[in-house]
Amino acid sequence: MKKYWIFLFILCSCRNENSDNHIPNALSIHIENFQLEAEIRGFSYQIHEDVTFEFGNLEQEGAAGQCQYHSNQTNLIIIDENFWQRASNNLREMVVFHELGHCVLGRGHDESKDNEGYCLSIMRSGLGDCRDQYNLSTREEYLDELFFEQ
Ligand SMILES: [Zn+2]
Repeated sequence: MKKYWIFLFILCSCRNENSDNHIPNALSIHIENFQLEAEIRGFSYQIHEDVTFEFGNLEQEGAAGQCQYHSNQTNLIIIDENFWQRASNNLREMVVFHELGHCVLGRGHDESKDNEGYCLSIMRSGLGDCRDQYNLSTREEYLDELFFEQ
């Protein structure tokens, strides 16, 4: 009887909302960079407490990531495993930051584009007709947009 009780207690503590959520190793560098870029711009987020992360298989064709909003527990970000294997580091960062834009910043999609057709935000849905241009030389500008337009 006593052993049974301990087992239940462990289950309960695993579901404790205040405990640090597990973050897959491959994602942690991007999450740290998101927090760093937020701090540079004067923002601070408790991502470990607010969001849970996992790799999975997203069924929607071409889907790289997904943010699930939960009202009574932490939000969940799922990154598609197949996408992750094939993506460059740059594209990986863009997708993780995009999902954090939904799950942490509360942003929706934004399909705005410049005169040449390039997306003005990494919050583009990927279903619109603007073209991505997220790279080392445009990164600062896109991250300014990400944090300041929230
Ligand atoms: Zn999205």
